Amino acid sequence: MSLKIVSPNTVLANALVHTIDILRPRIAYTKPEKVKFVVGTQINGLPHIGTHLTQCAAFLFAEQVRNIFKVDTSILFGALDNAPHEVILDPESHHAYQITYQHKLGKNCIDSLTQKYYSNLFSRLSERTFVDYEIQTYSEQQSAPNFRLEFIKTLKELERIRWLVSPSSGIPHIRFPCPKCWWAEKRSERTHLIKHNEKEAEFKSYCFDHMEYSSVISEDSDCYLDLSTLYRNIIKESCLINDKKSLHIIVKGGDWVFACQQIDWALGLLGHAPNNLPVRVFTPQILTDTGAKLSKSLIKRGAMDIKDDLENWLIDPDCWDRSEEEYADLLIWTVEELMSDPKHFYRSYSYKELQRIMKHHISQPSNVPPVRTIRIYRKYFKLIKEGVKTIEIRVGYSSMKKIKAGQFLKFICQDDKCLTKVNRITEYASFRELLDSEDTNKINPHISYEEQLNELSNIFPSNKEALGVLCIELQKVDK
Ligand SMILES: [Zn+2]
Repeated sequence: MSLKIVSPNTVLANALVHTIDILRPRIAYTKPEKVKFVVGTQINGLPHIGTHLTQCAAFLFAEQVRNIFKVDTSILFGALDNAPHEVILDPESHHAYQITYQHKLGKNCIDSLTQKYYSNLFSRLSERTFVDYEIQTYSEQQSAPNFRLEFIKTLKELERIRWLVSPSSGIPHIRFPCPKCWWAEKRSERTHLIKHNEKEAEFKSYCFDHMEYSSVISEDSDCYLDLSTLYRNIIKESCLINDKKSLHIIVKGGDWVFACQQIDWALGLLGHAPNNLPVRVFTPQILTDTGAKLSKSLIKRGAMDIKDDLENWLIDPDCWDRSEEEYADLLIWTVEELMSDPKHFYRSYSYKELQRIMKHHISQPSNVPPVRTIRIYRKYFKLIKEGVKTIEIRVGYSSMKKIKAGQFLKFICQDDKCLTKVNRITEYASFRELLDSEDTNKINPHISYEEQLNELSNIFPSNKEALGVLCIELQKVDK
């Protein structure tokens, strides 16, 4: 039984052949040396399936961009340890006060939370896609000089930016936790900018217990800067634009679509040209029957009515009763299925439909070990498919260095595929050294040693050759 997903056409899907094509114009225009995917990640409670789909999509986009555009890719996960751990009301002013996860639990506890929620899954997704990732907490991010200077820069435009980050009240939520108790006024009603210049700014804030205190922020001062979500994203994206070494692609859940206009306006106010704004990819939202976003906290509080037909593990991955390997496999399969057609990816899913799709895969018997896909030029693809090319040559990108003997590689050229198994990997210092040591007939029986050397140098410039040269000996797998 094959799976059928029915998705109507949309303006965006109609314009694309492949889901990944949404990134093509920017990559073609900027010709980046490296593409970094950036994903924000909650740590206040176990993630549900929507979060995992977004994270998995980041890995698969990074894999495809690397394979199709021949550029190094990696992922940066931002763990939001500034989420409020507790909120209380000041009985006198009736202002809300909050304390962050970081300040309540401390660094070690935050590290073990990210470890518990994400590290296992991320390393499995990384092994399967050969995409490297790192996790940075918000606390680390706010202490970085570029983040703090970028924040100070926004103060010059605060008169206009404050309405973008806080459209209803115009009061920007800039929180400096009280240095004595770490509580901060949630909506910053009594936080005031006293003075500022290019390099530093002084604020006065009010603690319900310790009264007025002042905070001086500069690139290396140690006061903690906490910001509302919109404000934080403006600073974050502004820093990403300033980092010219990489093209940054932000992967966000689809519910962010409604908020991004505010960020774009603010980035414009900060002097960023529209063609420099980061690229954003929105992943499908998972909805309930009413069309509301599936919310774990609302379900927990009993405010969201979920029929009994929802599999527990969709809400709580801890309820998954098979191996973690199978969970990662299911996620990858599902996101690949959605990405197989732009109409399937740039839309939302009810949890029932998502469940139907995922259960379809669970019901299929599968003994195929993880397969890595590699895109390749037509003329080499033909030789591999004919079985005459049994040595493939690549340079030592970190992702390529992860390929191991015994692993399956699926070579792809447009719609054609050829499954192979790796017999051996040998690393050489240069193309010449490789050609001197290997049987060149197995690389390409139709051209000479010198022609092979020429082709390799044309495909890989010398700075890529310097990464090391990999000889991948293959065997075609009959299927
Ligand atoms: Zn205090």
